[in-house]
Amino acid sequence: MTALLTGLHALVTGAGRGIGAAIVRNLAGAGADVTLVGRSRRDLEAVAAELEPVRRSCQVADVADAESVRTAVAAARAAIGPITVLVNNAGQALSGPLGATSDALWHSMLSVNLTGTFHCMRECLPDMLKAGFGRIVNVASTAGLVGYPYVSAYCASKHGVIGLTRAVALETARRNVTVNAVCPGYADTDLVRTAVANISAKTGRGESEALAELLSHNPQGRLVTPEEVADTVRWLCLRSSASITGQSIAVAGGEVM
Ligand code: NAP
Repeated sequence: MTALLTGLHALVTGAGRGIGAAIVRNLAGAGADVTLVGRSRRDLEAVAAELEPVRRSCQVADVADAESVRTAVAAARAAIGPITVLVNNAGQALSGPLGATSDALWHSMLSVNLTGTFHCMRECLPDMLKAGFGRIVNVASTAGLVGYPYVSAYCASKHGVIGLTRAVALETARRNVTVNAVCPGYADTDLVRTAVANISAKTGRGESEALAELLSHNPQGRLVTPEEVADTVRWLCLRSSASITGQSIAVAGGEVM
């Protein structure tokens, strides 16, 4: 697969750990120059230091803040050139029953997961339209395809990401810019480790029992790996994936949607 993405500049949000770090390693391994975006420069630089010999830049930004995204994208463009691949991966997953969902929790889910995706698409899309080539992959979730209890704000934000994906895919369909969503099931990252600890704390069940409850959603009975999600993202970024757009692809071990 080496060099299939040579000549492309991929900007990946939430690239300092978890699924985002796996994506940036994967795209760089296929020859793409990369910009890593996130809130922790230390995390971004640690991932960037171990990449294949491609050009790379690290940009600190909060995706929920439009001005912060604008500044980061401009700096990435100045460092490496126009952005031709955008992976909107940054996300957060807070939980609670609807009645206990505060305004702050609701707004933070929507502003990071959905509005953050919008901010990055709006800043990067002009480069792609000008280049006559672009690949946008939004890391949504199975929670964008079905409902789960106690994560209504997260589900609403991820359903929104899928709607946004479908709409922009139609706007760009004749411009050689594809827009797709990847929908992981429960994956082996900090996000799930925190969820397991929260379920355990709130219900008094042990962490292995809480994890077993999450695993019961996946017919394969295991967590998805970040590398499996990254492989799917890379496939959607290929020049040869030009006919795949507006899709929401589950990477979830056969969980029925
Ligand atoms: P993670 O390990 O918690 O990583 C989340 C990343 O997003 C971190 O790099 C974090 O960096 C960044 N981030 C969070 N808020 C941000 C903000 N406001 N601005 C910029 N960056 C921000 O989670 P993950 O599991 O890898 O999740 C990655 C994506 O996959 C998320 O969109 C998540 O919803 C989705 N997903 C995950 C699972 C799962 O089971 N793990 C399942 C389905 C979907 P900083 O905190 O340093 O900024």
